Amino acid sequence: MSIVKELIKSGATSKDIITKTKSYCPLLWSHFHVSASGDVLPCCIGQWELPIGNINNQSFDEIWYGNDFKKLRRALVNDKKVPQCKTCYRKEDSSGFSLRHDAITKFHDGSKNMVLHTQEDGTSEDAKPIYLDIRFSNICNMSCRMCGHFSSSKWFSDAKELSEEHGIHDYTAGGDQPNQEAIIHGVEDSKQLLERLDEYLPYVQEIYFAGGEPLFMEEHYTLLNRMIELGLTDTHIRYSTNLSIMKYKRTRVVDVWKNFKNVYCAGSIDTYGARAENIRKETKWDVIEANMAMLRKEVPHVRIGIAPTIQIMNAYTVCELQQNWVEKGYIDKNNIFWNILQMPQYYNLQIMPFHMKEEVKQIWLDHIDWLGQTDGGPVHDTIKTTIAWMMDGGENEELLTELCKHSEKLDELRGEDTRSTFPELNYIWRKYWNDNTIYST
Ligand code: SF4
Repeated sequence: MSIVKELIKSGATSKDIITKTKSYCPLLWSHFHVSASGDVLPCCIGQWELPIGNINNQSFDEIWYGNDFKKLRRALVNDKKVPQCKTCYRKEDSSGFSLRHDAITKFHDGSKNMVLHTQEDGTSEDAKPIYLDIRFSNICNMSCRMCGHFSSSKWFSDAKELSEEHGIHDYTAGGDQPNQEAIIHGVEDSKQLLERLDEYLPYVQEIYFAGGEPLFMEEHYTLLNRMIELGLTDTHIRYSTNLSIMKYKRTRVVDVWKNFKNVYCAGSIDTYGARAENIRKETKWDVIEANMAMLRKEVPHVRIGIAPTIQIMNAYTVCELQQNWVEKGYIDKNNIFWNILQMPQYYNLQIMPFHMKEEVKQIWLDHIDWLGQTDGGPVHDTIKTTIAWMMDGGENEELLTELCKHSEKLDELRGEDTRSTFPELNYIWRKYWNDNTIYST
């Protein structure tokens, strides 16, 4: 019998499963993820170049019950590694934690019968998408520096320019043959897909909306209105949102959220003020602050946290924002989760000079103390994991030069001045930017 089935039969807890497995992940039985290109992946961090199918060329049933899903389920029920999930294996090697662990904690209980009834060849007739994450399109109102056209329609003109003028394709949807339209419909026929999923909605435990910007997407409202019609208002609704848009056409999002008991918004807010406006272009910092104040007043039952993308650009200041927002009562000390940026590599913390890593590490350790978090606390662990990740790697001249080059090109296109906005990164600017101007802190 497979090792995972044995563990389930022996009544192993999620914690035991995490300790005793190296690749099993319940998401392959219980999660349906469609990326902004229509590709179906094991989850949002599954290897994008190895899709399980594409929802625009195949039906949901062809993919969900098809051979590729079967192969993956067969491997994972036997705790064999698969190339589609290497991001998790790498994270576990570097930091001892991964999204796989989180998935086991949250979804193993709801998936274990599906796993148990999986046949030798990976067939799982019981598999049910109880956790949905469908990126209906790349529609977004921002163009964050670390993002690209694949995830943001707003990136289109910059990506086009970078591609045509400078031969840079890494921000461009479609790679060397850039997509010629700003909006990419991940799901071309969203009506049909939503109709097919309708039968599963009563079983759905969680819907995760991310972008593009989900609060700017028609399908998000269609799906939530359907959940309200069906009386499924206990379902956990979770977001990654930039918190900049609170109204779509005539609908105020807070009026929709008032129907749901369990809403969690993770604000993709990396830092504050001018730095935030530089990293996530089109941010108006006063609007973000006003939205936070409004949410706290109008929908106090909605849990709001922040999930910054931790990278070189916000490494020094992310904690200042979090302390300020805790003090203002916008967020709870425990509702903070750090997403570690891996790509583009030139923003990745691992390439920073060692002495800067040491400075950043001290700021973060002081932050843990300020938060009063101890070992095992959620924020303590997210920060400690990020420290372990950051320390795994050395100063990388090539990538730091790349960081400066990309910043310079984007500054030209956007009329911004990254060096003076981030004086804490002066050491990098002086050493790797091809110019000796000194910016004051
Ligand atoms: S193992 Fe990691 S990459 Fe694979 S499905 Fe689970 S969470 Fe996603």
